[in-house]
Amino acid sequence: MVTNKDLAELIFPEVKDTLEDLERRYPARDLPLGAEVTRFAPSPTGFLHLGSLFTSMICKKVASQTKGVFFVRLEDTDTKREIQGSGKMLLDQLHIFNVDPDEGYLGDHEKGNYGPYKQSERAYIYKVGIKYLLEQGRAYPCFCTSEELDAIRSEQEKNKLNPGYYGEFAKCRHLTNEERMERIKRGDQYVIRFKSNGSYLNKIKVSDVVRGEFEIAENDQDIVILKSDGLPTYHFAHCMDDHFMRTTTVIRGEEWIASLPIHVELFEAMGWEAPKYCHVPVIMKLDENGNRRKLSKRLDKEAAVSFFIEDGYLPKAVIMYLMTIANSNFERWILDNQFLNMDDFTFDFTKMNHDGALFDIGKLNFFSKELLGRMKLDEIYAFAYDYAKKYNNELYKLINRDTEYFKSILNIEREKENPRKDYEKLGDMASIISFFYLDKYEELLGNNILPFNPKFSGEQIAATLKAMKEGLSLEQDEQSWFNNMKEVGEKLGYAPNGKLYKQNPDQYVGSVSDIAEMLRITLTTRKNSPNLYYVMKILTKQECDRRIDYVISLLNK
Ligand code: GLU
Repeated sequence: MVTNKDLAELIFPEVKDTLEDLERRYPARDLPLGAEVTRFAPSPTGFLHLGSLFTSMICKKVASQTKGVFFVRLEDTDTKREIQGSGKMLLDQLHIFNVDPDEGYLGDHEKGNYGPYKQSERAYIYKVGIKYLLEQGRAYPCFCTSEELDAIRSEQEKNKLNPGYYGEFAKCRHLTNEERMERIKRGDQYVIRFKSNGSYLNKIKVSDVVRGEFEIAENDQDIVILKSDGLPTYHFAHCMDDHFMRTTTVIRGEEWIASLPIHVELFEAMGWEAPKYCHVPVIMKLDENGNRRKLSKRLDKEAAVSFFIEDGYLPKAVIMYLMTIANSNFERWILDNQFLNMDDFTFDFTKMNHDGALFDIGKLNFFSKELLGRMKLDEIYAFAYDYAKKYNNELYKLINRDTEYFKSILNIEREKENPRKDYEKLGDMASIISFFYLDKYEELLGNNILPFNPKFSGEQIAATLKAMKEGLSLEQDEQSWFNNMKEVGEKLGYAPNGKLYKQNPDQYVGSVSDIAEMLRITLTTRKNSPNLYYVMKILTKQECDRRIDYVISLLNK
């Protein structure tokens, strides 16, 4: 008679270690009570998705606030889908957002005592686990060909039965060990399947830190645990790795909730306690018709974290924004804390909205604008220079024309209690500041109609501009300059403030804000610009006068 042990030995003669050996090799971690061990487990199949950054950020936060460990494990068992170099790229992108792991696969090397951290290098470890399951009669070789599996599926479809490899449909589960041995010796191809003891008619209670306890149908599927290439599938690798890497808390996307029954049964079969599970919401967006849908790699540029990097968002702003999605009380907290530092914020799974998180670019822009406005000149200059050099040639060229000039533009109303917030992201900067550069200003003038308020005639605008050229001095502080502008305006019949004008619209031709707008449009070609007084100081009186003369000549045409 062929025993389970004989079969296990026939399949894995090279496996000499036992689970006890692995327990000794990967002992419990020596961490303070309550420390959580979390992990990010990406597959190297492409770019870093915003949802993955979201999950990793939470993993890092949970580990650091409990003095635990956050590690990265590369799930590279699907060799067909692997994109060369993407593992390293994922780590590089995490680094940009300051979500560096403490341990694990680090892109070009590994760190830590629980490795290897690339699943493709752990084949032997998985085999130890699978040999154990074979010996226990909880796994078996399956010889079904894809044609046979297709036939099973069609029969199930025809009879409206649950799909899958289970119960009576699990043909190879019913072979004898003698038959199995014979087929293996004969050289038949096979995979190894888990032998489930469950029935989908039973309900089990599972618990999730975000959602609490809930009921779900028991697993009844004899899932594949080892593929014919000798590598495990996700489910089994998750069980082995998170056990032997001593993960306490599995934080992953909610799409894995449906697999929980499989994972519960696998941990049971191995005789291990399962980690805590935290299934975090998928990031959604509103489509054109106002319906929610998942951020899609294919349709949405913002699904890839690289979009935010290349568009010049401040990484810290993206992280702060993601934290507002993660915890509903964070936004109030960070506003109260002047956007300073999120280290002292305590993340709490119970404050997570589990109905799906809605991506709101407006809110991200708000965070980015606030943070860019609050940066010191040296910091924003360094960030802008580095960004421009890597991603934005237009800005890079502007910076390199004259770095001091560029810094003076960046420095407009910076490092003040109430700093000015002109930029949402550096991707817009070249366009916002282009008018400061003569050739760009001329280009703008050539390509656009100046957006003057049509209630003023060209003649009136020309006369107002002329009076300002002659009567407005820059050799004074901002307040006096503004008063000076009011005086010039009053002589031409403009009210010194909007309130007066509104009260007596017939007595005035307009108000001081109208003349400031005329001047702004003349000098910058736009209705919006950084602070006009500083714009004029940077341009110099001489250049402002030249631009005024030029625009007057256009108006007189
Ligand atoms: N490799 C899996 C994925 O990329 C990991 C899921 C998990 O965190 O367990 O979806």
